[in-house]
Amino acid sequence: MDVEQIYKDSSALLEGHFLLSSGNHSQFYLQSAKVLEDPKTAKLLAEALAQQIKDSGIEFDAVCSPALGGLIAGFALATAVDKRFIFAERVEKQMTIRRGFEVQKGEKYIVCEDIITTGGSALEAAAQIEAMGGKVVAYAALANRGFCSRVGSDREAKENCKLPLDKPLFALDDFTFEMYAPEDCPLCKEGKSEAYKPGSRGN
Ligand code: ZN
Repeated sequence: MDVEQIYKDSSALLEGHFLLSSGNHSQFYLQSAKVLEDPKTAKLLAEALAQQIKDSGIEFDAVCSPALGGLIAGFALATAVDKRFIFAERVEKQMTIRRGFEVQKGEKYIVCEDIITTGGSALEAAAQIEAMGGKVVAYAALANRGFCSRVGSDREAKENCKLPLDKPLFALDDFTFEMYAPEDCPLCKEGKSEAYKPGSRGN
């Protein structure tokens, strides 16, 4: 499965001159929601991710996603593995599990995102599950931005990966792009374009 091609075909992998929320510049940007716009593509990707998880032999009872980004990927994964799905959401900046969702003592969870960047939101969702008595056994995402190390890839986790190293991260592919401080940006040096925030031009 050529995950990168699927992202390109869905206009989920954009090429240009982007201003990231970190303030850095990049030639590429992942607009993850776009790849899930077509339910058939979402199903295809989730089934491939489910297969990776099944092949690992890891046992779990349910999938939990941090809202908003992880919802569709997590639901599609839960459908593919035929497990229960719950989500965590931010309430006044604090990740919370509410809406009547229950976590049983010892219940095993996979925390699923659409894309793992440093894994901050996934880790916060995991902390909530564990505070409620559950156990997080693994993390999953359709795409890994390359800061964390996924099962099946020899890329090592970088310092800014927040996910625990003793839990597997399942993801379909690594999307590792160079990021530049504005003063070092080769695209700025070319002088042909200015960096812009993805989404600010209607995309
Ligand atoms: Zn630039």
